[in-house]
Amino acid sequence: MSSDKLGAEVKGPVRQLAIVLGDQLDHDAPLLDGLDPEQDAVLMMEVEEEAKHVPSHKQRTTLFLSAMRHFAIDLVERGLRVRYVKLDTPHNTQSFDGEVKRAVKVLGPECLKITHPGEWRVKRMVESWSDLDVPVEVLPDEHFTTTAEEFAEWAESRKTLVMEYFYREQRKKLDVLMTKDGKPRGGEWNYDSDNRDAFKQAPRAPKRYTPRPDDITREVMELVEKRFADAPGRLDAFGWPVTRREARRALRDFVDRRLKHFGQYQDAMWTDEPFLYHSTLSPCLNLKLLGVKECVEAALGALENGDAPLNSVEGFIRQLIGWREFIRGVYWHEGSRYGEGNGLDQHGELPEFYWNGETDMACLRDSIDQVLEHGYGHHIQRLMVTGNFALIAGIHPRAIADWYLGMYVDGIDWVTTPNTVGMVMHADGGVVGTKPYAASGRYIDRMSNYCKGCRHDPVKRTGDGDQGSDDDSGGKNGDGEGSACPFTTFYWDFLIRNRERFRENHRMAMILKNVDTMDDGERGEITSRARRLRKDLGIGRISR
Ligand code: SF4
Repeated sequence: MSSDKLGAEVKGPVRQLAIVLGDQLDHDAPLLDGLDPEQDAVLMMEVEEEAKHVPSHKQRTTLFLSAMRHFAIDLVERGLRVRYVKLDTPHNTQSFDGEVKRAVKVLGPECLKITHPGEWRVKRMVESWSDLDVPVEVLPDEHFTTTAEEFAEWAESRKTLVMEYFYREQRKKLDVLMTKDGKPRGGEWNYDSDNRDAFKQAPRAPKRYTPRPDDITREVMELVEKRFADAPGRLDAFGWPVTRREARRALRDFVDRRLKHFGQYQDAMWTDEPFLYHSTLSPCLNLKLLGVKECVEAALGALENGDAPLNSVEGFIRQLIGWREFIRGVYWHEGSRYGEGNGLDQHGELPEFYWNGETDMACLRDSIDQVLEHGYGHHIQRLMVTGNFALIAGIHPRAIADWYLGMYVDGIDWVTTPNTVGMVMHADGGVVGTKPYAASGRYIDRMSNYCKGCRHDPVKRTGDGDQGSDDDSGGKNGDGEGSACPFTTFYWDFLIRNRERFRENHRMAMILKNVDTMDDGERGEITSRARRLRKDLGIGRISR
């Protein structure tokens, strides 16, 4: 199949012009209901602005463009007229705004229709189309199970927004994993305590389904290599679903082969194992190639058939109807300036190794290498390795939020901003999390095998010898070698820097006691090592 079918010119005038954005590839969207092939048309646009407003991984750009082209061809095959503007279509203005204005001029539509965008920036753009003198109808995004209004109603009746309570409401509302008498199935709302196992030896997770790039995807890959040669990431391992059919197969593959162990090992990490038992369905969901309900139903089916245990099924469903919907709710509820939050007042620069993986920290090298190779990292790598480092080293939250947005194939602002600014960087004043997810190298050592292949010692806070150990074991793995782990230095430095800020936070009380019991000399040594590390890593000054 090639994308030649997208070359047909649409002639005006048209009655309704339905605009489909790259993250709205939902065949069941109300936007497409009732379109008349004779009178109406669909507008889809590939524009450089979207691949460049933050540095975008080559696989992310390829995924969006290829999935858009496949979706548009499906629409053409359904008989709809599609004005499809390719990146290299002559006269492409390379912005949504410019292309909508051009289409309005050429086609003279009586009205524009669009599904609610997934980003404040695009929402503002849509609002600015009021000066086009064509009515614009914005339809709700029915992919989600909670509307912005429902979330606002829930949020406004609470002092703090706790995902767990939102999730319980969702379970009741959607009648998922509930007993007839309104209790959570199995007696618990979540099974996190069963879901924290690390691997004792090299894991043998089944290889996941990776569709082979077809002609359209290969055409896009060439275009991206040519047009965005300097963009981060590599394309050779591209294997993401770009059609609904492929997305459904990826769902089946996960449910049949990996869901069973997903819960137990969802927080575990292992060198050269980017996917493990994770679903890797977030790109399909975020582009709307998959629906939330069908994923929930598939997981429930596995539970009913005895193919997956409750702790795995519940953990997966919590990500779908709990965390994902909660995060989106926060994004719209907290307003367009939420993404500018910098509650911990951190201003450091993102180190160069985030773009090339060149670092002697084994956990970061592995986690970033796989982002460069696949545009993917699972949630614990995002939260506790790449994210945790940014938090404790003092990086500006916007710098890491933009990296998350552009470097993961599933990056869309409504997902990445609350996850990074709120959850990872604790920069939103505690809206998403009541305490920062800061951890030393010891957490990473417990949950992975990274530290075994690293020149640093996760237990050491300072120095290259065996002084300043975080326990009594001396140097690396107790043998007296290895320099202090930068995570561990930065972790204690983070606590020292923010000691007063977190003084009233009862969830931090215990850990802050450890800082209080250090003598001034020890605190000073940690602070100066952290300062030296920042200088060496190009992070620079973190406070203004
Ligand atoms: Fe990462 Fe520190 Fe472990 Fe090295 S020792 S892998 S830097 S946590």
